[in-house]
Amino acid sequence: MARFAQSIKGVWFILKTLPVFIVRQTPYRNADLILTGLSPEGFLTIHARGVLKITSPFHAMVALGSWSDFTINETKKKAYLEKANLIKFAPLPDQEGLIASIVMQVILQILLLDENADMAASMYPRLVGVRNGMQSALSTYTTFLLQYLDVQGVPMIVDYCVQCQSKLKIVGLNPQLGGFICQNCQAKVSSHLLPAEALVLMRKLKTIPFGEPVNNSTLKLLLPLIHQHFNFHLDVQLEGFKTIETLIQ
Ligand SMILES: [Zn+2]
Repeated sequence: MARFAQSIKGVWFILKTLPVFIVRQTPYRNADLILTGLSPEGFLTIHARGVLKITSPFHAMVALGSWSDFTINETKKKAYLEKANLIKFAPLPDQEGLIASIVMQVILQILLLDENADMAASMYPRLVGVRNGMQSALSTYTTFLLQYLDVQGVPMIVDYCVQCQSKLKIVGLNPQLGGFICQNCQAKVSSHLLPAEALVLMRKLKTIPFGEPVNNSTLKLLLPLIHQHFNFHLDVQLEGFKTIETLIQ
């Protein structure tokens, strides 16, 4: 991260350059945007002047989900965008597929659920992994969801039965109870019964690198249950979840 102190007509300001993902944009005045960006330092608010003008060279760089090196001027309380160099476009439906484009939007919504600075800084490298893993958008997305649940302290338990802690005869998953259910407990608490390959994939998904290809038809069985777990344990209702579930039917 480069930082330069400069002086113009005796007024000192700091220019710094750092990589930023655009997580939110709010229109301001005629042609400005107030951007929320996620950087290695956490969330930043950046005032981008004139970027909605047709002549602005920064349209692609300020789009939701795009990833760029931003040079910002922190002279006042606000940080102003001075320069931007695109690292990667936001995932585009015609280039990386509709799923990639939608899951990126949902991930941005998730990042905004909790703007706590410590957590945000740790989310930047994950978002880099997500962006670079878009060739397998659905598995990248699922791994992101599971890791996010871990970070938030409401992990999906996939190592043992959440009811009796047994590691044997796992047969299904209960999102409200928080994870796997064994055959003995199934009679008492009920769960979504899953085929063996889905249970194996569920275990694997937590630890695979972003972008690793998986069997998507098995993944489709798991995703609605992961969404249920997410909504129930974080007490949210993300609209994007339904969109993704509809798309992958
Ligand atoms: Zn059990």
